[in-house]
Amino acid sequence: MAAEVSHLLSWRYVCRFCKIEGPESCICEHNTLLQNIRVVLVNTSHPGNIGGAARAMKNMGLSRLVLVQPKEFPAVDASARASGADDVLDNAQVVDSLEQALVGCNLVMGTSARERSIPWPLIGPRECGAKAVEHANGGEEIALVFGREHAGLTNEELQRCHFHVHIPSNPDFSSLNLAAAVQVLSYEVRMAWLAAGAVPGKVEKVDASELATMDEMELFYDHLEKTLVGIGFLDPEKPKHLMPRLRRLYGRVAVERSEMSILRGILTETQKVVRGEPHKRKD
Ligand code: SAH
Repeated sequence: MAAEVSHLLSWRYVCRFCKIEGPESCICEHNTLLQNIRVVLVNTSHPGNIGGAARAMKNMGLSRLVLVQPKEFPAVDASARASGADDVLDNAQVVDSLEQALVGCNLVMGTSARERSIPWPLIGPRECGAKAVEHANGGEEIALVFGREHAGLTNEELQRCHFHVHIPSNPDFSSLNLAAAVQVLSYEVRMAWLAAGAVPGKVEKVDASELATMDEMELFYDHLEKTLVGIGFLDPEKPKHLMPRLRRLYGRVAVERSEMSILRGILTETQKVVRGEPHKRKD
């Protein structure tokens, strides 16, 4: 017994990546990249699932939980199911809309058990984990978005995501429990993170500060839509999925801030022409 205690007292955490002895969660670059990954739960009905998700996250080293209009939170059931992941719940951010949950994000991956009428770029959990780690490593902010227990994510919500992640479950019984789905993706993120640590330099760096964030992209889509209505290309009465298709198109590219300025500039000048105002070039 005494030996066990002294063993525990002398135990020290040594980060397996930077090899420096220190507090349990080392803040070396490799470790902190998981903090760039947030889990977003939309309109969760059962607080138990919020707790289950928090536990699944903490088991896999994730800590940032964002709740979009949860039905009940904080809640006894959430804390009970968290089984010790109370810090994840205590630090959870509660917001009013998915848009707010995605502020500052560069890459958004939304999960769904169902196929949609406008097929979105579809990936599996393994690719999702790899993408999350690759992008987080360059300082980008990543969101993994999960839907309601009874209805999942709406088409509009999924269309705010760059990728649609499908867990390849039994087609005859495809819908996982929400916390179980969070577990699958968190596990894949951890596997990708461990693999990246095992092979130094494997993960390529991207400079996140150059990329447009989701909130900047939303302002752009709004500007684009108004301009397309202004020039008569988009009929608000019969939109024919034009905006979702354009979102899917721009979502495939990592738009940089400087490119965003060009696009916004083109839209501003187009609007001026529509209003009959003089344009930028003086001739
Ligand atoms: N009845 C809902 C399913 C909700 S399950 C529907 O028809 O969409 C709750 C959430 O868990 C989903 O919104 C999704 O985020 C996640 N989920 C469950 N099963 C999944 C699967 N096979 N692939 C990806 N995500 C899944």
